[in-house]
Amino acid sequence: MAIDFNDRVKEMNISGIRKIFEAAGPGSINLGIGQPDFDTPQHIKDEAIKAINEGFTGYTSNMGMPELREALSKKFKAENGLDYSPSEIMVTSGASEGIYIALQALCNTGDEVIVPDPGFVSYSALSRLSGASVVPVPLGSKLKYDPEKLKDHITRNTKVIVLNSPSNPTGMVQSEEEIKAIADIASDRNVTIISDEVYEHFIYEGKHVSPAKYSDNVVTINAASKTYSMTGWRLGYLAARPEYIEQILKVHQYVQAAACSISQRAALAAVTGPQECVAEMREEFRKRRDYLLGELHAMGIDCVTPQGAFYAFPYIGDDNKAVTELLKNGVISTPGTAFGQCGKGYVRFSYATSLENIKKATGIMKRVLC
Ligand code: PLP
Repeated sequence: MAIDFNDRVKEMNISGIRKIFEAAGPGSINLGIGQPDFDTPQHIKDEAIKAINEGFTGYTSNMGMPELREALSKKFKAENGLDYSPSEIMVTSGASEGIYIALQALCNTGDEVIVPDPGFVSYSALSRLSGASVVPVPLGSKLKYDPEKLKDHITRNTKVIVLNSPSNPTGMVQSEEEIKAIADIASDRNVTIISDEVYEHFIYEGKHVSPAKYSDNVVTINAASKTYSMTGWRLGYLAARPEYIEQILKVHQYVQAAACSISQRAALAAVTGPQECVAEMREEFRKRRDYLLGELHAMGIDCVTPQGAFYAFPYIGDDNKAVTELLKNGVISTPGTAFGQCGKGYVRFSYATSLENIKKATGIMKRVLC
């Protein structure tokens, strides 16, 4: 029997990550947070102030400011080799809204959505909210999709495959070969990929490839949030073929109307302005990753080297016990089970905090986990 929207909301839980933050004491070192610890670059902030003073404070078009969509179209071409015209790009309130409206527009009750397990918390929750059933695909010890295994989970009810590379929580990056194989599955089986690419600029080995390079059945989700350290500005965007945009816009126009006009002007400065700030963040994250991995390995903890994002996902054994013990000793982390059943035994450490804090935290880990 179909469950109504209101009942689906009642069935939702408060995110496991939020519960941990609430239990943390003051002065704790936060390795639980999923946002860059850098200030938004000055030229972006200046543009926002200018936007307010120049009166960019009204609604924009539902799709977003034309000049921003034009700049994003150029970004897709230059950085991703993708031909999206401005009319195929929609500005959203963060990537979160993009994921929500894409699932709402695409899924019917009874459809199946394939999500990575472990995977970012929103995918399962928002798929269920859309009325679809969630089909978690275990990522295995490599912590990324094996396209062959993924294929085994496709049924005639599969509507969407959620792909997230680089991944939260594992930090893993799918290779171009794997991305192509997943894109081919989507084309062959007439399934849509929702490709969440918010960490595309934080890759330390390998390169970012969007499945949209190989299939038209893709809704590409992205945001300024992580790239330019703008999580609070709520500025995201999605790109897809017109058939998708037409449907997704119907949801967006009523739930959001338009993204924040000031953030849109700021994002225009971010996308068209100097990109050194992004490279600097990436290098800082790389240093921290290398340090954290070195320390975890020296402790004898099993951890696949994350190639992207800003998370390490070591196997600890009893993830809830480890997180509780660390919390008692002043380190906030996230249990793998917050990201799905297959996260059991893993802990997510975010290195979006200073190297100094990471050094203190690994000192505590040596006492608590070894
Ligand atoms: N997608 C992934 C994989 C994330 O990790 C996050 C935030 O942590 C989001 C989407 C949400 O991004 P936004 O803040 O742009 O809504």
